[in-house]
Amino acid sequence: MKPTSLLKDELRLTEFQKKALKKLDLETVEDILRHFPSRYEELGETKTIADAMPGDKITLRGKITKIELEKTWRKKMNIARAVLNDGTGTIKLVWFHQPFIANILKEGDAIFAGGKVQQNSKDFYLANPTYEKISSYETMPTGGQAELRKDGMIAVYPETRGLSSMWFRFAIQKILKKMEEPEDTIPEEILNKYRLPSLKNALLYIHTPKIPKNAEAARKRFAFEEIFLIQLSRVQKRQKQKKQMSVVIDTKQKELNLFLENFSFKPTGAQMRAIKHIVEDFGKGFPMARFLEGDVGSGKTAVAAAISFLVAKSGHQTAYMAPTEVLARQLFNSFTGYFSATGAKVGLITSSTCEKFPSKTEKSKPVKVSKARLLKWLKEGEIDIIIGTHSLIQDAVKFSAKDKAVYRGKKLALVIIDEQHRFGTNQRAALINKKNESDESLVPHFLSMSATPIPRTLALTIYGDLDLTLLDEMPPGRKKIITEIVMPDERSSAYEKIREEIKKGRQAYVVCPRIEPSEESKENILTLNMRAVKEEYEKLSKDIFSEHKVDMLYGKMKPKEKEKIMKNFEEGKIDILVATSVIEVGVNVPNATTIIIEGAERFGLAQLHQLRGRVLRSNHQPYCFIFTESRTPQTLKRLKALGQAKNGFELAEYDLQFRGPGELSGKKQWGITDVGMEALKNIKMVEAARLEAQNILEKDPDLKKYLPLKKRMEKEGLEIHME
Ligand code: ADP
Ligand code: MG
Repeated sequence: MKPTSLLKDELRLTEFQKKALKKLDLETVEDILRHFPSRYEELGETKTIADAMPGDKITLRGKITKIELEKTWRKKMNIARAVLNDGTGTIKLVWFHQPFIANILKEGDAIFAGGKVQQNSKDFYLANPTYEKISSYETMPTGGQAELRKDGMIAVYPETRGLSSMWFRFAIQKILKKMEEPEDTIPEEILNKYRLPSLKNALLYIHTPKIPKNAEAARKRFAFEEIFLIQLSRVQKRQKQKKQMSVVIDTKQKELNLFLENFSFKPTGAQMRAIKHIVEDFGKGFPMARFLEGDVGSGKTAVAAAISFLVAKSGHQTAYMAPTEVLARQLFNSFTGYFSATGAKVGLITSSTCEKFPSKTEKSKPVKVSKARLLKWLKEGEIDIIIGTHSLIQDAVKFSAKDKAVYRGKKLALVIIDEQHRFGTNQRAALINKKNESDESLVPHFLSMSATPIPRTLALTIYGDLDLTLLDEMPPGRKKIITEIVMPDERSSAYEKIREEIKKGRQAYVVCPRIEPSEESKENILTLNMRAVKEEYEKLSKDIFSEHKVDMLYGKMKPKEKEKIMKNFEEGKIDILVATSVIEVGVNVPNATTIIIEGAERFGLAQLHQLRGRVLRSNHQPYCFIFTESRTPQTLKRLKALGQAKNGFELAEYDLQFRGPGELSGKKQWGITDVGMEALKNIKMVEAARLEAQNILEKDPDLKKYLPLKKRMEKEGLEIHME
C-alpha cells in the first residue's frame, strides 16, 4: 500500500471530506480500513415497485424524482424524504436523522434502494433504506455494480457529515483492491494457535463478507487484537511499577488490632482478608497497585481507615480522594470517628471548604481552617490523612517539603481513590504522581475502590495493571432488599409502605431520572413520562406526603445547600428525600430503609443495584420499589433480574449477556471500541489475550522482536516500555 498517494490521487478527496475524515480520526489508509461496518444489509429480491407488497424485503432500481429535507419537533429531528420511480410506479423513501442524504442524492439520480416495504395510511414506503448510486458504480473501473449484486451482503458504515456509508464502501473497496500484504500486528504463532485470520484476510472478510461467518471470523480477530494490545500495555505498566520504589510501611499487628477493636462492629472475614493483602503489599518495597471491589455497603471505608491508620502510625501520609463533595464530607465524618482516639490528624479539602480534625480547643470536633494553612500543614507533615475531592490534585497541594527539618520525615505513602470509575484516567494519575518533594523517587502505594459491579472480563482488561481484591461478604445481619416492580396503577401501595416505614421512624429516598420537566417532553413522547425531581417534590410534599417532611437534592445545587440537606437527612429532620442519581455515589444514611426509583428502565442494572444499595446500610428490613411505565417484556424481564440476583457482579454479567456490551455504563471512558467490547462476552478470549501478552513481555520486555506490535501500540497511544 502506498498510503498517501492513494488518499491523494485515487480517492480524490475534497477538502470537506478530508476534514470529515480527520474528525473521525481517520488519517491514513490503514485508519480507513479500520473503520469497520456497524452492520450488514442483506439484499432482498429485486422487484419492481408495482410488485412491491408491504412486508417484502426487496431491492428496487429506479430514479429519484423528488428529494427534500424536513425538520420536525423544533428541529430536533431531520427527515430526508425522496420519491423513487422505476417506470412501473413510485414509492416513498424516508431516512430519519440522516439529513446529509438530501445533499448526496439529487433529483434524477439512478439508485438501488433496499429495505422492507412498509405502509402507512396513505402510502407504501421504505424506511432508512440502504442505497447505492448506480452512476458511482459505473465509474468504478472494476465493475462494482455487478459485484454488488453478487455479494448479497452490503456493509453499512457509521456515517458522518460529508462521508456517507456509500462513500466508505466505495473508498474501502478501492483500497482493498490495491492492498498489498499488510504488516500483521499479531504474531503469526498466535494467529495459528487461536485460528484467527491474518490481517489481510480479516480486512477482506469484514468489509466484503460473502457469508455472515466471514464477518464473524474477522470481528473475532479484531476483538482479540484490541484486547491483546490493552493487555500488553497493562502488563507492561505493572512490570514498570514493580521496578519503582515505595515507602515500606511496617505493620505492628498489635496496634492494628487495637485500632480495629475500637470499631463499633467486628470486621467481616472479607475485610480482614483485604487488609491482610494490603499489609503484605506495604512491605514489598515497590508500590502497591490494588483494586478493591465490593458491593455497596460491603464496608470499603473501614478497610481504607485501617490501612490509613497503619500508614499514619509508621509516620507517613495518606491522600484519599472521592468524586463528590457530599461523599468527601461523609468520609471525613467517618474518619473523624474512626480516628478520634488515635491522635492522628485528618484534613478535608473541597472547593468550598477546608477543615482539620481535631480542633485544638474542642478535641472531639473538626475546625474550619483557611486553605493556605491546611496546605502548609499538609506539606509540613502536620496532617496525617487528607481527604478531598478533585481539589486534591491541584498543583498547590504538596507533600513532604524539601526542607527535612520542616517536614519531619513524613512522606505521601498511600493514595486511595474512592468510586474510582467516576474519575478520568488523568485525574487518577495526577494524584498518584504527586511527588514527594523531598524524595521524588518514592511512589505512593495505590488503592483503587469501586462498588460498580463490572463483569470479570472487563475488570481483567481495564484493570489489568492492578491486583484485584473482592469484598465478597456483607456485614452480618444485613437483610436482603425486598425489590418490587411497580406499575403505574400500583403506585399508591408503594407510597403506603413508605408511610408505614416512616411511622416506625425510618426514612426514604425517591430517585428521579432528571431535575426539571423538560420543554421537549411536552412534544416528544420519548421523554413525556420522565419524572423530574422538582415536579415529584411538589407532588409528594403537597399532596401525597403532606403530613411528612419532604425535601430534594440534586447535583446542580450549591455545595452549601447540598451539605445542609444531607445533614438534615442524616439527623432525621427530613423523612423523604427526592433526588437525582447523585445519591448513587456512596451516600450513607443507615436509617433510610425504602427507596423508590422512578423511570427505572432508564438505568442500567448495575446502576439500579447501586442506587438501591443506599438502603442496605443497617439491619432493618430494606425495600426497593422499581417504578416503570414500560410494559415491554424485555424491560420487565431485565428489571426482574434485580429481584433475583445475588450481587452486583451477577447483574453486570446479566447486562453484558442480555443487552450487549453497549449497555455497560461508562463504556466511553474505557476507550474500548464496539468490536473490542464484543471480546468481553468471551472470558476465554480475554484470558488468552492476557496470557499471550504476559508470555511475550517475559521474553521480550521492549518488544524488540515484535516491531509491528510496538508500532501499533505507539500509534494507539498505549505506553511502551523503554530502556
Ligand atoms: P461501602 O463499601 O459501600 O463504601 P461503607 O464503608 O460505607 O460501605 O459501609 C457501610 C456501612 O456498614 C457503614 O455504616 C459502616 O459503618 C458499616 N460497616 C462496615 N463494616 C461493617 C462490619 N464489618 N459490620 C457491621 N457494619 C459494618
Ligand atoms: Mg464507599
